[in-house]
Amino acid sequence: MKIGTTHLFVPGPTPVPEVVRRAMNVPMEDHRAPDLPDFVLDLLADLARVFRLREGRVLVYPGSGTGAWEAAITNCLSRGDRVLMSRYGQFSHLWVDMARRLGLDVVCHDVEWGEGVPVEAYAQELRADPSIRAVFVTHNETATGVTSDVRAVRQAMDEAGSDALLFVDGVSSIASLDFRQDEWGVDVAVAGSQKGFMLPAGLAILGLSEKALAAAERSTTERCYLAFRDMITANDVGSFPYTPPMPLLHGLRASLDRLLDEGMDDVVARHHRLAEGVRHGVKAWGLDLCALAPRWYSDTVSAVRLPDGVDGAAVCRIAYHRYRTSFGGGLGKVAGRVFRIGHLGDVNEVSCLSALAAAEMALLDAGVDLEPGSGVAAAQAYFRQALAAEGSRP
Ligand code: PLP
Repeated sequence: MKIGTTHLFVPGPTPVPEVVRRAMNVPMEDHRAPDLPDFVLDLLADLARVFRLREGRVLVYPGSGTGAWEAAITNCLSRGDRVLMSRYGQFSHLWVDMARRLGLDVVCHDVEWGEGVPVEAYAQELRADPSIRAVFVTHNETATGVTSDVRAVRQAMDEAGSDALLFVDGVSSIASLDFRQDEWGVDVAVAGSQKGFMLPAGLAILGLSEKALAAAERSTTERCYLAFRDMITANDVGSFPYTPPMPLLHGLRASLDRLLDEGMDDVVARHHRLAEGVRHGVKAWGLDLCALAPRWYSDTVSAVRLPDGVDGAAVCRIAYHRYRTSFGGGLGKVAGRVFRIGHLGDVNEVSCLSALAAAEMALLDAGVDLEPGSGVAAAQAYFRQALAAEGSRP
């Protein structure tokens, strides 16, 4: 018999807070009830606050992040459009694959896994080729724990005089990392419900600028279920074009209340503090991150490189079976060579310490030579000092 919690430290899905889980436990209801529009309109308005989006709108589809990728491409672009993309991990790789399968003419830059978006290469490409219609960035590459500088890409686009649309995958950044859709000039931002929003998978969420909405009116790609136009027409009267997953929307209401109550600046600061603590722990083990330099470090997921001869899948297996703790394995090119600790969503200092404690045991059992307790002790020291420095109430 399994007693106690199974600890979830994959970088999505993330633990669902009790208040959110309870909010989803509703009797089925009429999604065309007369009081539903007020609920929906408030929900969408508050969701836009998390994207820091005023000049545009957010749309919510039943689906996952991958569905949001597809909605973004099929609504805003047309077959044959030339787009600028880069691959530096499994998720950026998959978005390129989708773009090609949907008929876009993809100019793709391959970057070493462990680095992020190649801003200088993008700048050169944009200066040389004014026909580029869209520029894609995976803000937080979940496979490698790398965060890219979206603002710098916007700046490169502006300096090159490009009028391309800026597409950003924010699946593992939005609602956790600093993200400013208006300020950074992001036209299409993509998110999913199961990461920073602390919900089950099931909602594909998009933030769209006015420019993206105008592009969607011109695009000639066929789409139906994911058509922005149908969703917008229904949303304008606080409704959906088809039956929405109401329990998830109630969960989203509770999740937005939590995020906005904490305040997005504090949400971002908490994720930074927790990630720093985890990084102190990894350093104390004598291990390196997959992210090759501090400027790429992700505050939502740390991918930890393993010494030669230690299999990342074994670390995850031991953690799961012996210590009832789930970590993310390595994906694609880094399969077996890293394991990933997710530290996003409903997490705090002590939950991160428990992740480090479980990881330490699994690493030792898998044959990694490290000082028992070293990672936990380093993170504890960091958290104590950081919280005291912040003036956190004793
Ligand atoms: N983009 C990123 C950065 C992700 O981390 C993921 C999933 O982990 C996806 C896209 C795909 O999202 P989903 O699995 O919700 O379809």
